[in-house]
Amino acid sequence: MTQLWKWTAVIGSVFYLLCMSVVIVYAANKSVVIVENDTQAEEGMEYLAGTEMEFTGAQENVLRYTFGNGVAQEDVSIEYRLGAGELVLQVTGLRDEWLLPEEVAAAEGQVESLVRRDTEEGLEIAAKLDRYYEFESSWDEHTLELTLTRPEDRYAFIVVVNPAHGGTNIGNAVNSLREKEITMVIGAALEKRLQDTGIKVLLTRTKDEDISTEARLEFLEDITPDLVVEIHVNADAVNEKTFGTEVYYNHIFYTRGMTNAEFADLMEREVVTAISGRAGGIFPDEEARYALVQNAKVPAVGIEVGYLTNEAEGALLQRNDYCEKIAEGIGNGLEKAREILDKDEE
Ligand SMILES: [Zn+2]
Repeated sequence: MTQLWKWTAVIGSVFYLLCMSVVIVYAANKSVVIVENDTQAEEGMEYLAGTEMEFTGAQENVLRYTFGNGVAQEDVSIEYRLGAGELVLQVTGLRDEWLLPEEVAAAEGQVESLVRRDTEEGLEIAAKLDRYYEFESSWDEHTLELTLTRPEDRYAFIVVVNPAHGGTNIGNAVNSLREKEITMVIGAALEKRLQDTGIKVLLTRTKDEDISTEARLEFLEDITPDLVVEIHVNADAVNEKTFGTEVYYNHIFYTRGMTNAEFADLMEREVVTAISGRAGGIFPDEEARYALVQNAKVPAVGIEVGYLTNEAEGALLQRNDYCEKIAEGIGNGLEKAREILDKDEE
């Protein structure tokens, strides 16, 4: 028995020393401290449970809420939450029962469930939808009517844009510079840039929140867009001198009209031109690091817009005007890509 303990102690100590030396060697090689956080949000994030509400039937694509006298139009705000697949009405103020609508009508099947929740802001009424819809709202006295439409019925050309990471998934980070924030700024700027071009940008994320890879993939599957773009920010833990824009593409799928490599090349050129930056090259996503790129059935790229670990590029990425320039480049590339695809269709 004593013999066994002795061996356990010896093996344990050797293992400990080995681990420590690896850590020391690794730390010595590291010129910059970066945080790698690529873990995706857990499936089935925590949402407040809430109480199930009854609703009556309505025609397809219509959701109707009839409130009591006390609720004014400005008390109610509406948003679609991609992670949860919910269309949420927020009624600000006290959490009183009288804030609840007296009647809710919705098409069964389209609305899978209706739930009320008490939140910090007030009261929330969440309709879980069977898939993604855009909505238009109109008020008639105390009745709010939401008309649901599918994006493909509304827009001729759709690009799903994934500002990567978000919430607890920070992505790459150097000091206060965080990938999840930069990708979000660029995503929002890109949506704005393409506003009046006939290209509709559908973002997987507009806020700093956890949205699981599964939810983003489900969204991609549900939309069937014309093009897909993932936005990331790079980091080089070993060499802080590394900088430039890199574009990754799916080398397995063949896409009609334009190959993934051609799309990647176009995006690389347009972004680099817009920021007068350095082209770091285009690469097949052999390690399957970009989930949407891996799963898209249309031309799709993952753009690593620059290196946080490079002092000069990191400083630029911190600036809004620089992020807008990146968005300008991505937007130019998407417009050219649409032209190529349109020509192919003729
Ligand atoms: Zn990333």
